[in-house]
Amino acid sequence: MSSHPLYGIYKKLPIPLQSAACWFYGLNFVIHQYNKSFYRKLAWLLESERWSASEIEAYQNERLGNIIRDAYENVSYYRETMDKLKLRPSDITTVKDLPKLPILKKEDIRNNIDKFVSKNTDKDRLLFRHTSGTTGKSLHFHVNRETDTLQWAIWWRHRNRFGMTNKSWHVNFRAPLFTPAEQNEPPFWRWVHPMRQVVINMQHITPSKIHHIADFLNQHYFKFYTTYPSFIHSLATIAIEKGLTLKNPPEVIFMGCENTFDFQKQCVKKFTGARITGQYGFAEACGNASECEHGLYHEDFELGVMECYEPERLDDARVKGKIVCTGLTSAEFPFIRYEVGDVGIWENDNTPCPCGRQSKLLVRVEGRQDDYVITPEGGSVMRFDYIFKDAQNVMESQIVQEKLGEIVVYIVKRSSYTQKDQESIRNEIEKWISNSLKVKFVYVPEIEREPNGKFRAVKSLLKEAISDDGCPDCGLPI
Ligand SMILES: [Zn+2]
Repeated sequence: MSSHPLYGIYKKLPIPLQSAACWFYGLNFVIHQYNKSFYRKLAWLLESERWSASEIEAYQNERLGNIIRDAYENVSYYRETMDKLKLRPSDITTVKDLPKLPILKKEDIRNNIDKFVSKNTDKDRLLFRHTSGTTGKSLHFHVNRETDTLQWAIWWRHRNRFGMTNKSWHVNFRAPLFTPAEQNEPPFWRWVHPMRQVVINMQHITPSKIHHIADFLNQHYFKFYTTYPSFIHSLATIAIEKGLTLKNPPEVIFMGCENTFDFQKQCVKKFTGARITGQYGFAEACGNASECEHGLYHEDFELGVMECYEPERLDDARVKGKIVCTGLTSAEFPFIRYEVGDVGIWENDNTPCPCGRQSKLLVRVEGRQDDYVITPEGGSVMRFDYIFKDAQNVMESQIVQEKLGEIVVYIVKRSSYTQKDQESIRNEIEKWISNSLKVKFVYVPEIEREPNGKFRAVKSLLKEAISDDGCPDCGLPI
């Protein structure tokens, strides 16, 4: 709502009129998103997820062949790239042929944006999207309507795995403001009846408002919550701290958009007792993966091919690598071998998922590549959650690296936090990360969210501090 051009007027309306506006917003959303095409796609997806491995392979190869042919004929960026490499569409007819093509980086799109739109494009079929980007530089691009609807149906297939439909009442904890940030009295929620949804903004999940929010959640029954992990984790930590309980917990909590850390899951589980499941997706809509009932991420192969680039074999025969995606549905603005900026860990090919689905399996997504700390020893460390695993007195934390050789640990303390906790965290960092890394502690009332409301557990400002022309992977000057 807060990104809507009329938000300035909306936020000044009395609450009953805001509620009416939310109702119309919901109605408009339902009419446009839950259309015939959506239900057709969802029905198809519920069948295709049971396809055999060879059926999946045949589908992807056929779709890929079409995308490549189309890109070569109509999209000048790919025409030039393939001509330079002396490749023809007939050289890339299966997923196994993809490595013949180069990796597509965000920077390639930024620098050549006009060369990515197919000359056959019907502009009415395109939707404009952008990402804010972790380094503050946004990426602009298009997806077609078919892809948008398919991606939406894939989300709902995921929810359907856990017994939810778009008729199930739910709470959406989200960033765009439905309840204006300056409002200090309840209600801190807005009903969006046509979507069977209540919106609670993370900006209102604060110690002074948590009683009202917990009371509200206890007075109604919602079948599921949908949220960013950091939002529901904030809610759970503040509520536990205040001794509140959830008497009417949801059955499932769907998480997406950010990495989910184990400590977040444990805390949310403790407060809600609900089942937690995740979704890996991104605005470019050229790949997606959704958790199944057995806790593994299945490639949503209908939308795109997910490759493991620069694979590294792990001890348990799993493979870790950069996630590179090729969209199979958007010929108008094709993403071919697009480096998303995340790292994934794939299950080894011989381990089938007990759920019986035969699409490719990821164990987890490890995080944005941009978000890591570089140690004086030259290592790059992405995950710090284990450092805080026993730090019961830390409510929230964030690691920020502004310069080489040093990190700043921002901490929101619980009242029981003492100097001993700080020393124990320092020791853990020395033990696990580096004993020559300088560690500064800064105590804050809350961790600052990104402009899009997202929370970054590890934030590197090195890229911005050094140069945009540095190595795109580590940020160091080349
Ligand atoms: Zn499975």
